Formats: sequence, structure tokens, C-alpha cells
Amino acid sequence: MKPAAPLKYLGAYAPALQAQVCELIAQDRLGEYLSSRYQATHQVSNDKALRLAALELKDRFMRNTPPLDKVVYDSKLQVLRDALGTHTTVSRVQGQRLKSSREIRVATVFRDAPAEFLKMILVHELAHLKESDHNKAFYQLCTHMAPDYHQLELDLRLYLTFLECGKAKRTPDLRPSDKGFQ
Ligand SMILES: [Zn+2]
Repeated sequence: MKPAAPLKYLGAYAPALQAQVCELIAQDRLGEYLSSRYQATHQVSNDKALRLAALELKDRFMRNTPPLDKVVYDSKLQVLRDALGTHTTVSRVQGQRLKSSREIRVATVFRDAPAEFLKMILVHELAHLKESDHNKAFYQLCTHMAPDYHQLELDLRLYLTFLECGKAKRTPDLRPSDKGFQ
């Protein structure tokens, strides 16, 4: 069965899995699947909180990498372009020195997403501080920081798919909670 809209977030997954997702969409049950697994939104609602969340993960798992200069939400970010956020190393001349700036930008859509998804994005972008490609070492680092990384990435892609096909419809019933970011 061909989906009405192509599953652009799921292109790298097996056809059988994509067919299953089409089935869920056709039955209008994708939101139900997501809300059964992810209930909480998070309180990382501004750049300051985002930076703290990133630094907390970095201090815990990647203490030896150079400091981050900037961590921000970016409303102009195209979610799909580099999987989901961007990490950049910008070289700029400051005075006489060439200083390398390390930035993490997170698409604004994750400000309102479940906590687990924001964590997954931060883990992904932090892992890029060490590995620029999506290679084996990169994913090892991701699963070191978030053992269920692969499941989270799949579910996050399902969430984006859901938002896209339900744009004029409804969003998943993710009950707000005062649970902080963990
Ligand atoms: Zn990436």
C-alpha cells in the first residue's frame, strides 16, 4: 500500500516497518501508539534551559570534549536536513586568534515534544562533537548516552510523521506534567 504522503522521515527503515506505519496511519492509530509510550512534555522551554540540559549530558558522558559555546532553539531549522538538529564548528577571527566556536541548534518543534525526544536530539548532536559522520562509533556514543537511542530515534521519526499527517487534525494527547528534563 502506498501512503498518501511519502514517509520521508522513515526512508532508511525496512519496507515492512514502513508498511506497518502506513497501516497505523490508515487506521488513525499512530497518535494512540505515541501517547501510549510518551506522556510527558518537558520544561526545557527556552535557550537557557536547553543549554543547561545539554551541559548536564555533556558533563556526564563527554567531559573530555571542548566546551560548547552556544546551544539554542532555532525556528528556521529544517528538521530533515541533518537528521534533526545541527552541530557546527564555526571558525571566526576574534582579535588576533582564530577561535573555533561550537554550537548546537535544535529545531523549535522539539520544544513542545516529549522529554525523551529532546534528549535524543541532544544526545545526537553531542555525539557529533566527537564523530562528524553517522558511523558505528557515532551510534555507539549515542547508545552510551541513551541506551534506548535507536528506539527513541524511530519513535521520534514517527512523531514527526504524525505531526505532518495530522497537521489540520489533532496532536497526540500528551498530558503535560511537571516532570523536569532527565
Ligand atoms: Zn547527525
